[in-house]
Amino acid sequence: MSFAWTPHRFSGGALALDLANSVILRFDPARRVDRFADPDAILAFVPAAQAFCAERWLFQDMVATDAASRPRLLALREAIDVHFRRRVLGTDDRNSLSTLLDAASQALRHAPADGALEAQSAHSALRLICEPDPQRMKICGNCGWLFLDRSKNRSRTWCDMAVCGNRVKASKHYKRKRGEPEP
Ligand SMILES: [Zn+2]
Repeated sequence: MSFAWTPHRFSGGALALDLANSVILRFDPARRVDRFADPDAILAFVPAAQAFCAERWLFQDMVATDAASRPRLLALREAIDVHFRRRVLGTDDRNSLSTLLDAASQALRHAPADGALEAQSAHSALRLICEPDPQRMKICGNCGWLFLDRSKNRSRTWCDMAVCGNRVKASKHYKRKRGEPEP
């Protein structure tokens, strides 16, 4: 398996968003990939999060999700994505919030340890709900990932300039060369 949890995959700026971003290209059913479809990839997510996640200083004792907790982790992941994606678009409501709170509650209640991935992800989601500056959360213009824009002038468009920013630039350059109109 050539897949690896590289630093780029932790561009979200918060564990809850990195978790949601374990699905690639959510908006495109033909190309969408769920990295958590492979249970080994869920196990490998934990040490990578401890190395690369922006919130890593909060969970150095993180432990992997056991098989019994996996459905709760995935339910929490989907609730995080739905609620915060809607919040960025201004369409979140008490349904998406209560679904997220329910999923966070279940993850916390049944986690085998305080440091379990699903418990730490629930804490991260709750911190984001209380984020005093919700405008900082954005959707990457290339890959659709959720991320926090911590730049001073809030000018980030891409989850990761080095990956998505460059990809868009390269495709614009290619289209210009072929004389195609830019989107
Ligand atoms: Zn991106």
